[in-house]
Amino acid sequence: MDNHYLEFLIELTNNVAVSDVSDQQFENINISNEQLMQMTRNFYNSFDNKKIKDCFNQVVSKKNSISIVPRPNIFSGENSTLGGICLYDHIFHQPYPTIYKHKNIKDFLILNHEIMHGVDFFMLPKLYTKTYYGFHETPTYTCDYLTIDFLEHAGIHKKEVEKLKNDKEGYFCTLASRVQFQINRRLKRKKLICPKDIQWMISSLLWILI
Ligand SMILES: [Zn+2]
Repeated sequence: MDNHYLEFLIELTNNVAVSDVSDQQFENINISNEQLMQMTRNFYNSFDNKKIKDCFNQVVSKKNSISIVPRPNIFSGENSTLGGICLYDHIFHQPYPTIYKHKNIKDFLILNHEIMHGVDFFMLPKLYTKTYYGFHETPTYTCDYLTIDFLEHAGIHKKEVEKLKNDKEGYFCTLASRVQFQINRRLKRKKLICPKDIQWMISSLLWILI
């Protein structure tokens, strides 16, 4: 890894990392699937960008491409942050966003997020043989913040939208803390096995063999 990039990452994580983030308790809101879909249409139509609007229409125009389903019980505890998933059909070139309904304000965010994965899929062809190093979440995390702005502007469920904002912030702090942990662990490992150590290990091994 490039040293400048590493320094940038360390500084970034040091500024953001907080590992002890309290969970937000969201109120139950019964939002019908039709209301959710209407909100997402209004949201994507509010973009001042034809390409995004066109890609959004490509995602939603295929019948049954979007699934809004009850949240399976297995998504609790460790998996509680999993709100949905977007699968791609690379043969027929179609994304399939799935939303696991939380029955609270998060449903708005999850729907827009998963659809944005589909929009991104149309904007730039993705190859399943390549990894995107996590950058596929860049447009969707941006979309999360735009959704929060959109909901704030609409003036609905104000308290819940505030919680949503805190929840998102907490999520990023936790992510940064995990990255910080991984960087430190790798740096320690790198220090432990430096070229001198390898030289010493080889000479010791040779000595034993002789
Ligand atoms: Zn995502």
